[in-house]
Amino acid sequence: MVELTEQTKDGAAKVVFMIVVFIAATATRGDWLLFVVYLSKSQWQTLIDTSSLNEVANVSVSSEDVGVLERWKLQNLPLFLLLAVTSSFVMYYGVAFGFMWFFYINRRDKAHEWKCQPTKFLTPSNERHEILLGSSNMLFGSMVSGVIACYITNGGYSKMYYGLSDYGWSYLPLSAFAMFMYNDSLAYYLHRLFHNPFLYRHIHKVHHRYHQPTAFSAVAMHPAEFVLYQGYLAAIPFMVPIHPAVFVTVLLYTYYYGLMDHSGVKMDAFWPWQPPSQFHDNHHKYFHVNFGFNSYLFDWLHDTIDKPNREYAEDIFGGFGRPKTESKAKAKSLKMS
Ligand SMILES: [Zn+2]
Ligand SMILES: [Zn+2]
Repeated sequence: MVELTEQTKDGAAKVVFMIVVFIAATATRGDWLLFVVYLSKSQWQTLIDTSSLNEVANVSVSSEDVGVLERWKLQNLPLFLLLAVTSSFVMYYGVAFGFMWFFYINRRDKAHEWKCQPTKFLTPSNERHEILLGSSNMLFGSMVSGVIACYITNGGYSKMYYGLSDYGWSYLPLSAFAMFMYNDSLAYYLHRLFHNPFLYRHIHKVHHRYHQPTAFSAVAMHPAEFVLYQGYLAAIPFMVPIHPAVFVTVLLYTYYYGLMDHSGVKMDAFWPWQPPSQFHDNHHKYFHVNFGFNSYLFDWLHDTIDKPNREYAEDIFGGFGRPKTESKAKAKSLKMS
């Protein structure tokens, strides 16, 4: 009876923890600032007194600098950068350290209950490596988000629109679906491209140092790769008409599952198309398989989902592994010779 109560308590603690994680994770990186754009241009304008924001931002900027920033439609840039960078770091590392504390420290002895790879943990040197590399990417990424949000807020060129019905109501879900597919297809094909032997060894292997990923691993990758992923997402509001609520919602969805998929914690997704966290954890465990992030679609189309009768390893390229019997026969023949 006592045990049951403790289990219930533990279960309740997990639910509360995941709700906190969900709220915090959705605020990572500076893109939420585009909501400020939306609010400042919508009928709720009076709710945000932008003149007070201007005052705060201009305190530390000389009049000469303001002129330069205004010319580039970047007035209030220091404030945007400050908000984007601090919110990113507080939320992202808050979530990642939260996972560390809740699962990896407090529930380490029960790893078989919650961990995708219950008997293996990242080495301390790789933990330090992913925190340092992830931090530098986050710093760069959040600054870029801050600059873009600032530029668009100040009326810089973009195709973002602010009236919900400007392109018709059906355009909202359609554009969300199009952005989701644009991201999911590019993420799959670029990721798969990075798994060819040359690009893998020179660039993508950095991310695959983490055989048992943690939430910190989500943005710990070669800077060139990070810039590419961030770049094709940041390009969207400059290419097609998109409402900030749609843009930010789809971005937050991908960031949230990016974190969950790397957490190392077994979790089923709420949406039927979203693979559970075990799927990407297996990508880190088996290397050249399970390339997708937010759906099974492209892995299913190209038959690159991991299979129990195939063997996978860092030197088995291509995405299909090899039959287990073949490698066993090879090992046997090696032993014989
Ligand atoms: Zn990979
Ligand atoms: Zn990964």
